[in-house]
Amino acid sequence: MIDLHTHTTCSDGTDTPRELINKALSQGIDVLAITDHDTTSGWSDARKAIRGDIELVLGAEISCLTHDGISVHMLGLLFDENNSPMQMLLEETRDGRIPRMKKMIELMRAEGMNISMADVEAAMPPGATLGRPHLADALVKNGVIASRDEAFQGLLNNDSRFYVSHAAPTPEEAISVIRSAGGVAIIAHAFASHRGQILGAQDFQGLCDAGLNAIEVNHRDHSVSEREMLRAIAIEQNLVITGSSDYHGNGKLNSLGENSTDLEQWLRLESQANARRVVKA
Ligand code: AMP
Ligand code: ZN
Ligand code: FE
Ligand code: FE
Repeated sequence: MIDLHTHTTCSDGTDTPRELINKALSQGIDVLAITDHDTTSGWSDARKAIRGDIELVLGAEISCLTHDGISVHMLGLLFDENNSPMQMLLEETRDGRIPRMKKMIELMRAEGMNISMADVEAAMPPGATLGRPHLADALVKNGVIASRDEAFQGLLNNDSRFYVSHAAPTPEEAISVIRSAGGVAIIAHAFASHRGQILGAQDFQGLCDAGLNAIEVNHRDHSVSEREMLRAIAIEQNLVITGSSDYHGNGKLNSLGENSTDLEQWLRLESQANARRVVKA
């Protein structure tokens, strides 16, 4: 089983990298990618925790915005951790999340909601990439809402009046930096229409020109018809097709390995990185 998209306590997941690797081992996952939002801070702990036969793929999920303001998540796998443009891109995106969070909190406070930046900081593991799930956790703690899931269906949805976007690269910029750093770029849950505005099929040509390697087709946020449309684009553009869980520990309903990538697709994707960076014990 090959799962190419998961999160840890280094962003908005609830398992540490070690806990996640142990869980993957016990569930018979053969290849596991760790893709925290806008950071590589979990990579060293993940390397230390690896044991048994599991193959570890280190990556990150980069939050992007198109010129039209559409949110796109780009998975970068197998890039060189020491590549400066890559680390700068991740750092700028992380930095943009702080003023954005403050604005969201201001909008909520203006409507009399019980929430502060200190509450959100208390809800976040030290050093994690700050995100809406931490705001959701603080709102749960303050009794404003019942769960992360409820938050994302209302208050914290992309279409909510409290939603604020943050400074982020365009998807083309992210692809180009991932590729220059020797990695491979996969567009994550591109047609997850319930999250907010999504790309159109016509937008993929520009992504391919920038060097896109793969499309995440099998993901719980895609309906059967959305998967069909993405599969057709991938075949037409000769892109690799992936599937993954987007596991977040108990922060989300997604269970580890609930969607997976075929071995032949994975081998093709891995061969497109500029060096062999899969980590083994
Ligand atoms: P942000 O990166 O701050 O814009 O927040 C987006 C994050 O929230 C993404 O990583 C999603 O995985 C997460 N998310 C989206 N919907 C849900 C949900 N229903 N429950 C928990 N987390 C969610
Ligand atoms: Zn997340
Ligand atoms: Fe995502
Ligand atoms: Fe994700």
